Amino acid sequence: MPKDCFYCTKDAKLDALMIELSRFPASTLYLSKDQTNPGRCIIALNDHQTELFYLEPSIRQQFMEDVSKCAYAIQQAFSPDKMNYAIYGDLVSHLHVHLVPKYKTGNDWGRAFNNNTDNINMLSTAAYLSLIERIKVYLK
Ligand SMILES: [Zn+2]
Repeated sequence: MPKDCFYCTKDAKLDALMIELSRFPASTLYLSKDQTNPGRCIIALNDHQTELFYLEPSIRQQFMEDVSKCAYAIQQAFSPDKMNYAIYGDLVSHLHVHLVPKYKTGNDWGRAFNNNTDNINMLSTAAYLSLIERIKVYLK
């Protein structure tokens, strides 16, 4: 397990950025603490792998099913105009997908999602828990 990967160590760096929302056999869903795009989440593979093409086909299929299931829940909970799926990993290579609800009147509409730390919308713990419950309703 890489000691410099916060998805593996689940250390304070992870806690500063996100809150665990639900854990599945192949992946874990997190609510992003940056809620500039309301409902924004991150889903990370449970094991440390860096690329989709390194995954066993059965794991890749399960991971993409989890991505789809979580995106559906966000869509139901927040009714964005479009869901975006961003896999970058330049700086944090552990395979993860940004699930970004996009709104026609909101941030980055018509452009690629910019994970820009200069433009963040942090909420209270109570507000995060409320959003988590709102998404969990549709994960069942
Ligand atoms: Zn990792």
